[in-house]
Amino acid sequence: MSKDYYQILGVNKTASAEEIKKAYYKLAHKYHPDKGGDEKKFKEISEAYQVLSNKDKRAQYDKFGRVFEGGSGPEQGFGFGSSWARQGYGQDNMNFEFDFGDLGDLMEDFFGFGQAGPKKDFRQGKDIEVEIEIPLEEVMEGKERKIVLSKLISCARCQGVGAEPGTKVKECFSCRGTGSVQQIKRTPFGSFTKTSVCPECSGEGFKPEKPCNVCKGEGRIKGEEEIKFFIPKGVDTNQVFKIKGKGNAGRRAGKTGDLYVRITVRPHSVFKRKGDDLYIKVPISLSQAVLGGLIEVSTLDNKKVSVKIPAGTESGKILKMSGRGIPRFSGFGKGDMYLNLAIKVPNKLTKKQKELLEELKKEGL
Ligand SMILES: [Zn+2]
Ligand SMILES: [Zn+2]
Repeated sequence: MSKDYYQILGVNKTASAEEIKKAYYKLAHKYHPDKGGDEKKFKEISEAYQVLSNKDKRAQYDKFGRVFEGGSGPEQGFGFGSSWARQGYGQDNMNFEFDFGDLGDLMEDFFGFGQAGPKKDFRQGKDIEVEIEIPLEEVMEGKERKIVLSKLISCARCQGVGAEPGTKVKECFSCRGTGSVQQIKRTPFGSFTKTSVCPECSGEGFKPEKPCNVCKGEGRIKGEEEIKFFIPKGVDTNQVFKIKGKGNAGRRAGKTGDLYVRITVRPHSVFKRKGDDLYIKVPISLSQAVLGGLIEVSTLDNKKVSVKIPAGTESGKILKMSGRGIPRFSGFGKGDMYLNLAIKVPNKLTKKQKELLEELKKEGL
């Protein structure tokens, strides 16, 4: 289940884009199916490269591991929710704050360059991560769940714009609509013109003439949203799904953040899971072990299945029931179920049982 993309490409977590590209070309050449390579391996390499070669996807992968695109209904494949949900992070700040933590931004501010990529949208709402714990049984079918998420939602009074209804949004006076302000910074290396985001309008270049009474011009308020998801069958612990546009609302009609849902599958008291396979201990009687016979076993999805115990079965023998395990997340087939047979040795016997066993003893059993 857990694939390490860096390991697959044989590079370090700190590898540059160039190193990743080189490693990919080398491996793709080696495993290309047209050249008689291993197709499964080739697919793995391609998947790893697809993620690690994209700056945003790589950052997302570094933070969450493999992320699956989620939807909101069974027809879309997945989605989730549950009463077990708890909010991990994502308490967006109501007030705009400068983020000096990111060296890239700082470089950009000072020198007018930074890491390549789309310009940061200061209005965009933050992503939210939630953790959801589900019982193992639910993995068999998949299930729709609901969560109520505390987050920043769009202000209904101003429809997210931040202006009192009937008033206008005007050009920002501080930056004259440019969205940025300039300051001269004197440093030991000389003077630099520092361009930074206009604090008055958060870089938008415009401002509400009269801020909305409810959201104070933010365009968003603290609130709750009910979100429905469908948990797909076959999920495993630490799988993360992304539900687009269900994070915190953006400031003044900015883009809404995304919701990330991390799954934890609660261990079962009877069925042990290993990948897509299930393991279960099954007690059998002394006579069943010696003579063989039929026993009835319950599967994880509550089906009764008859299993033939061969005569002369020893304690600890493992029987495989093909296709009775967990549905594969990929959608094709199921894992297997393994029965670990243990002979129950009775510690209390009826008078009759004792007599019969004494007889057997005489026979050398
Ligand atoms: Zn401004
Ligand atoms: Zn408002």
